[in-house]
Amino acid sequence: MKVHILLGPPGCGKGTQAKRLVEKRSLIHLSTGDILRDAVSKGTEVGLRAKALMASGKLVDDSTVNGIVFARLQDETGDVLFDGYPRTLFQAESLQTFLSSQGITLGFVMDIEIQEQELEARVVNRRVCGNNTCGAIYNLNTKAPRVDGVCDLCGGNLKHRADDTTEAFRIRMVEFNKTFQPLQAFYKGMSNYRYVEGSRPPDQIHDQLVKLFQEQA
Ligand code: AMP
Repeated sequence: MKVHILLGPPGCGKGTQAKRLVEKRSLIHLSTGDILRDAVSKGTEVGLRAKALMASGKLVDDSTVNGIVFARLQDETGDVLFDGYPRTLFQAESLQTFLSSQGITLGFVMDIEIQEQELEARVVNRRVCGNNTCGAIYNLNTKAPRVDGVCDLCGGNLKHRADDTTEAFRIRMVEFNKTFQPLQAFYKGMSNYRYVEGSRPPDQIHDQLVKLFQEQA
């Protein structure tokens, strides 16, 4: 079993790329954002703790997120692709310790980098299919659905995430800039770290990531 990681700021395309990659490779997509949003919508104890933090754009505390992730990893047997985790150096170090203790290998760390100016428009115009089994991602400017508010793939209702507003996005970027540098430094020296230029069209990025996995096979 291996775990692969997608790093990068909000709106860089982690979710989009993760969804496309898991269709091609047999990977389990683990988005801590999706898991937490599900907990919020179900009103679980974790969800109640996370709700206001997430809506405002703040990070959820490390021990809650690590707890969710480690519980999930213990249940999985296939290779995993993380999207949105780890987000802090503490999470990265804890994950490394956990992986070593379980004999799980760290696979690729794909760092999608993009200019901050491009991100806000992407996030504010993002719409996501509310059907959990679909979760397709749209952008009103660059990838609009055929019918307003309706998912092309499953007919589900498209949602505007509570934290995809200008105000919350700015706080998310503050959080990202506070935590990212040490996190990136932790992985950058490793042989399986890959820089990915994120301002290119999604198809090109997808092709690069697929090639990366093919070369490893
Ligand atoms: P995302 O869907 O990855 O953009 O995450 C949405 C929100 O969920 C973030 O702004 C945080 O509030 C929370 N979240 C997701 N992943 C993490 C994480 N690894 N650490 C802390 N908070 C997280």
